[in-house]
Amino acid sequence: MDKPNADLRVLVVDDSQSIRSFLKAILTELGVGEVLTAENGTAAIAVLDTCDGTIDLLISDLAMPGMDGVELLRMVGQRCPGVAVLTISSLDARLRFSVSQMAQHLGLTVLGLLGKPFGEQDIRNALDRYHEVRRTGAVMPTDPMSDAEIASALHDRRVEVHYQPKVRIDSAHVVGVEALARLRDPRRGLVHPAAFIESTEAGGQIENLTYQVIDIALRDAGTWAREGLRLNVGINISSSAICRLDLPEHVEAVAASHGLSPSQITMEITEAEMGSGSELFDVCARFRIRGFGLAIDDFGTGESSLPRLRSLPFTELKIDRRYVDGAARSREIRAILESSLDLGRRLGMSVVAEGVQQVEDWQLLEQIGCDIAQGYLVSRPMPGDKVAGWALRWKQRGGNA
Ligand code: C2E
Ligand code: MG
Ligand code: MG
Repeated sequence: MDKPNADLRVLVVDDSQSIRSFLKAILTELGVGEVLTAENGTAAIAVLDTCDGTIDLLISDLAMPGMDGVELLRMVGQRCPGVAVLTISSLDARLRFSVSQMAQHLGLTVLGLLGKPFGEQDIRNALDRYHEVRRTGAVMPTDPMSDAEIASALHDRRVEVHYQPKVRIDSAHVVGVEALARLRDPRRGLVHPAAFIESTEAGGQIENLTYQVIDIALRDAGTWAREGLRLNVGINISSSAICRLDLPEHVEAVAASHGLSPSQITMEITEAEMGSGSELFDVCARFRIRGFGLAIDDFGTGESSLPRLRSLPFTELKIDRRYVDGAARSREIRAILESSLDLGRRLGMSVVAEGVQQVEDWQLLEQIGCDIAQGYLVSRPMPGDKVAGWALRWKQRGGNA
């Protein structure tokens, strides 16, 4: 059966307890996977922080004590670009309209402006519009950070790292996590890579970011290891950072200082980003010689994948999510997925499917023998201090999402 709302995470913000409960009941009835609630803007921001800012839909009242809905929309626009919003308010229609104009300006996807009272059908319609917007590929505009904002975040060490689990598909055993950088900005809150990686690279600041991510991720992995949780950590490396010839020695030294061996660390290099300089081959070879894992990331999105696969000593192939999500329902996607899997396997690599969001795709991956899955179905990225608890709950539930 089609359950279009099962993957949705909705945040409901209203100062009235009865409206929050009413909305939660309707959304649950409509099959929404996760409904979060907050009583005002400040509480909503705190909730966003605990879930990595990854909500699909915000339903918010506009007039609330403390941080009001308008200010909340501005903050959400900065921290969750493109997110869908539905406002509910007893304010007059013209005022509601001007708020919706503002929200659109902020890059939010406005699904509607409900007056009070509203009913179940209004919410049902809004969810239908949500799916319609997503289906028609509405763009998610991002507001990139400026070089100065990035420089200041790096200087003040406002880098945070969130982690997304990677699990074996046959046993559901957690094998590792991928470290994903975020920047804490005083104005926007926690900012995701889409708003800073490109400019960080272009502005020559990626090396600084990479070194800070390495420090944080390996320190966290050291902490988990001391708690008895041995997880492999994947670290994303841009081609401009990989040109530092001393990178393998540096990572090895940081790992050793936290009691970790190179075999617990996998360097992920995005296929599309790979340069062709000899430094890349040099650094990759020395990572492997020291025992680090080496992954080709976002496989399927780059240009010259095949020659590179042959000439670089990769241990892992990560199939990009566009060839994973929806594979069970599309012959074309499935064909690319299966060929990538076959290629990775024949070259002796461990194959990871990225962006696994739907149970049917997981089942397909199981059937075709893919090794590892990563994606929202297992877990969204989470802060480091949530990883050990998550891993324990995952194990207790027998590895079920
Ligand atoms: P990536 O390395 O391919 O990381 C996976 C991205 O896919 C993450 O986004 C993750 O949150 C997202 N993702 C995982 N599962 C799902 C899913 O089921 N559905 C959807 N829609 N998305 C999913 P994030 O954290 O925004 O990172 C985006 C990219 O930014 C990364 O892609 C990586 O290329 C880059 N990046 C992140 N951290 C760093 C870093 O420390 N250094 C460098 N150079 N690049 C980084
Ligand atoms: Mg990656
Ligand atoms: Mg990737």
